[in-house]
Amino acid sequence: MKINFSELEKEIQTILNTPQYNDHPASRALRQLWEVNQEQWNRMDRLTRLSDSYQDMMMRREKSLSERFDKHLRQLEKITRISDRYQRNLRQLNLELERTSLIDPLTELPNRRFIMKRLSYAVEHRDDALSEGLVVAMIDIDYFKKVNDQFGHQVGDDVLVSLGKLMNDIIHHYGSLGRWGGEEFLVILPQHSQEKAIALMEKVRDGVASYHLSIDHKSVSTSISVGISCFRAEDSMDTLLSRADDALYLAKSKGRNCLIVGS
Ligand code: GH3
Ligand code: MG
Ligand code: MG
Repeated sequence: MKINFSELEKEIQTILNTPQYNDHPASRALRQLWEVNQEQWNRMDRLTRLSDSYQDMMMRREKSLSERFDKHLRQLEKITRISDRYQRNLRQLNLELERTSLIDPLTELPNRRFIMKRLSYAVEHRDDALSEGLVVAMIDIDYFKKVNDQFGHQVGDDVLVSLGKLMNDIIHHYGSLGRWGGEEFLVILPQHSQEKAIALMEKVRDGVASYHLSIDHKSVSTSISVGISCFRAEDSMDTLLSRADDALYLAKSKGRNCLIVGS
């Protein structure tokens, strides 16, 4: 049987509100039953509201936790991005620092420090058993002061850049060229016989002598003197270089635009 509770409730209320039933034992029992029932309903209602508010609180807590988690995650991502960018900049800065400490800023050739490092490596790793050895050539531009005096320091700088490039284009297949300082350059030729080194440096000398630089509608021509030194068993880096320097001095005294092998 299907019970209609709201109808039943109405009927019970009617019975309980009818004065002539008040003292009837069935009415008293019904009233007690009604009150117990009401109490049960109230308790159920309180429990439901308590459970609802508890659920509500849990949901709010969960939401706030997830919002805090998201916020921290975003902060972490931001910090990671900043740190990545910082690391990249630092790497770039280190590369530039390394470059500026080893490369001559004007000619963009290895500077004296770098070419000395290379020479030290070449001396250390030479193989005396080979028929061809280590050769160095010291180059000095002839009468360079005149270029500066005649055309100005800026043109002098441009000449240094152009000659550096011209010589490097010939040399870099065989060895290294670096700016030794001022208008002087150093060549390192690993595994070269004296003859091969002379032939190559003669090509460089001739290349410079026949090159006319056109700068600011002015034609500038120069020449170089070269001192060559071939590594000997008893040599150190210093003795090897000073023999090249002496040979260069001799080339100057012999009239310039020539090369001399140090003995
Ligand atoms: P020599 O044939 O005897 O070598 O004569 P020189 O005039 O080349 O010799 P010297 O060493 O007396 O002069 C070198 C000149 O090179 C002096 C200096 O002003 C110039 N010089 C050195 N470094 C630079 C540079 O970076 N730029 C310019 N424009 N000139 C430079
Ligand atoms: Mg000089
Ligand atoms: Mg000079």
